[in-house]
Amino acid sequence: MRELIDRLEREKILAPAEFETLLDCDDDILRQRAQAVREQIFGNRIYLRGLIECTNHCKNNCYYCGLRRGNPGTQRYRMTKEQILACCANGYTQGLRTFVLQGGEDPYYTDDMLAGIVLAIKEEYADCAVTLSLGERSQESLKLLREAGADRYLLRQETSNAAHYAMLHPPEMSLSARQKCLWDLKAFGYQVGCGFMVGSPGQTLGHIVEDLLFIKRFDPEMVGVGPFIPHASTPFAGERPGELRLVLNTIAVLRLMKPNLLLPATTALGTIEGTGREMGIRAGANVVMPNLTPANVRGDYSLYDNKNSMEAENIKRRLRAIGCEAVISKGDYFDV
Ligand code: SAH
Ligand code: SF4
Repeated sequence: MRELIDRLEREKILAPAEFETLLDCDDDILRQRAQAVREQIFGNRIYLRGLIECTNHCKNNCYYCGLRRGNPGTQRYRMTKEQILACCANGYTQGLRTFVLQGGEDPYYTDDMLAGIVLAIKEEYADCAVTLSLGERSQESLKLLREAGADRYLLRQETSNAAHYAMLHPPEMSLSARQKCLWDLKAFGYQVGCGFMVGSPGQTLGHIVEDLLFIKRFDPEMVGVGPFIPHASTPFAGERPGELRLVLNTIAVLRLMKPNLLLPATTALGTIEGTGREMGIRAGANVVMPNLTPANVRGDYSLYDNKNSMEAENIKRRLRAIGCEAVISKGDYFDV
């Protein structure tokens, strides 16, 4: 095991079967080494990204997600520009310098409306980064939003295996369209985050290795990895959630594979385990995403059951308790 960890740290790549061995291991050394690499590069500094869940309307029907259009149980909302700006104002006073606008694929927000929102945020908060996480959009749209000032975009590939992708999504969605969008984002100069759920139905260790190899090739600035968690009103209601150990091992392997990567300890990780975010950080994660969505709609942004969102103050307190420090800056990706 130690030989594999040494080699991954040195060469940043392993053979597929070797990756599987590490992903499946029970050894604390993997996570300890990943934490040491994180500390070498970032010290005890953790980046915060304020999450604004601006709409829970979605035209898609992903089998795993509670916001899918086929779920009639969800009370739908969308936020106005003014409401979004109020979230930013609140986040700014709490020291947040990145705002992530996340939502379902909601055609209500035209390109012009979104560009106006991005422009307004950038005008008022020149020292802040704007990240979008609004699903797949056309080249024209992505280009326009980049020109309006959007700095980053999060779009998980969800899986890098086409057959597995088809198990998670209805036929109108495809892995090739997803990946094309990711390459477009890169071409337009976004800092890009991709990623995937661990333990999604039908996923094998081999699929995770395919994701690692895609990430190697795609070379994103950020990778979001969290456990799949079933939502009661989806076709996957009866499925098992992703396993804590496998999520942590995946984070650790990613840290060793790409030492300067932005790696969030996700809300989903903090949901399957009360101290999941802290465990993620101890396995090499260096980003946490406090929630800025107004309390009256937060519960309606239900991707999965029992979502354990957390406010910035609580997150900062928890970081201090494990000897980490929340950075008050945009926290851009940097090359090492
Ligand atoms: N609509 C956009 C952004 C919102 S969904 C998009 O799909 O990209 C953001 C992420 O939530 C998805 O990429 C998915 O990986 C995650 N997600 C959705 N349902 C989930 C579930 N049941 N368990 C864990 N993560 C889930
Ligand atoms: Fe919509 Fe995103 Fe949920 Fe898919 S994962 S249903 S695109 S919100």
